Amino acid sequence: MACYVQKFGGTSVGSLERIQQVAHLIDRTCRDGHQLVVVLSAMSGETNRLTKMAKELSVAPDDREMDVLLSSGERVTIALMAMMLKSLGIKARSFTGRQVGIVTDGAHTRARISRVDTKRVQAALRDGVVPIVAGFQGINEASDVTTLGRGGSDLTAVVLAAALKADTCFIYTDVDGIYTADPHMVPSARRLEKISYEEMLELASLGARVLQTRSVELAAKHQVPVEVRSSFQDGPGTRVVKEDADMEQVLVSGVTGDCNQAKVTVVGVPDQPGIAAKIFGAIAESAINVDMIIQNVSQDSLTDISFTVPRGDLNPAISLVKDLAKAVGARTVEINETIAKVSLVGVGMRSHSGVAARMFATLSRDGINIMMISTSEIKISCVVEEKYMELAVRGLHKEFGLEKSATV
Ligand code: ADP
Ligand code: ASP
Ligand code: MG
Repeated sequence: MACYVQKFGGTSVGSLERIQQVAHLIDRTCRDGHQLVVVLSAMSGETNRLTKMAKELSVAPDDREMDVLLSSGERVTIALMAMMLKSLGIKARSFTGRQVGIVTDGAHTRARISRVDTKRVQAALRDGVVPIVAGFQGINEASDVTTLGRGGSDLTAVVLAAALKADTCFIYTDVDGIYTADPHMVPSARRLEKISYEEMLELASLGARVLQTRSVELAAKHQVPVEVRSSFQDGPGTRVVKEDADMEQVLVSGVTGDCNQAKVTVVGVPDQPGIAAKIFGAIAESAINVDMIIQNVSQDSLTDISFTVPRGDLNPAISLVKDLAKAVGARTVEINETIAKVSLVGVGMRSHSGVAARMFATLSRDGINIMMISTSEIKISCVVEEKYMELAVRGLHKEFGLEKSATV
């Protein structure tokens, strides 16, 4: 008897019909005699709808109350699913984040899990009950509800799979696996049979939302076997596994585009030791996630420093940077909200050279200007104008032979 965690995302439980269909899928797994823990997201669009309501009432909604609000979406789906399963004759019981013992730090709306106590889940499994767990939520040390950041149900699933030492953590979604690019953006993208944790971590952090970044981090740390599958059709998906020798043979595994980025430039900064430390030290203290940073060659002892932040962090970043610019005697602060980051990811880049040059040549052939560049051992990212993001992703996907029909 195997132990599985099955997580179903928003579109998979987006209507009563979908909940019925997923219930039948769960029923099949139970009939095969496996132990099963189910993790559910809110119905698709629900978390956005709740966020919109909060923002209509308040410009900066209180984080604690935001978590109380957002966590309600998952309570609806777990209750409906448990009812549906019971009507099919399956012993099922819903559990909130608090009830499954997910304890987090106090960072409301982006909490990190500090521990998980699976006593109740294990007791349910022993009694032959299928626990139906609300994803995306936990409680902090003060017993207040917290949420785990967008896409956080993936993290709930992986954390439970790690704690229960499950055989596989299945992430059921609206596509049948992890593709060489977002199949909704690049129709010729190819499904991968497997991908390494490391590559998936880069893809997720660079905008492929099919798995939440922190869930991949945790899966890698605890070596949790993860498989992304479709809840709409049967068949294999993509396994996220430890890197193997075949993977090194492939130059580029995937291309991503992320338009959830903004660029901040501090213009006319005095070119002196300690200035960058002052600016980025203050930004880091406010938990704003800075990604790419470039500093121009200085002219007349003045320089420009540009960096990117997620668009959601832009407003707090602007007010902070404006104050800092004044404090260090910089001329002005410029903002560009219409940028996107396009990236190539592949462990093969470690052993093959020339990928960056080919990437730049492809973008230039399509007339796309590169504003910033950053690289790591297994990825290259370029910031371009947002309106060119899809063109860039499609061009790169083709150039690196990632299409369905291409021989690789
Ligand atoms: P869920 O609601 O099930 O969690 P998400 O919307 O979070 O689903 O993630 C699935 C989506 O991820 C797909 O519909 C697809 O558009 C997008 N996606 C982005 N990049 C990729 C990729 N490389 N492979 C597969 N899907 C991707
Ligand atoms: N409902 C949450 C969201 O939309 C969590 C999730 O679906 O994973 O981000
Ligand atoms: Mg998701």
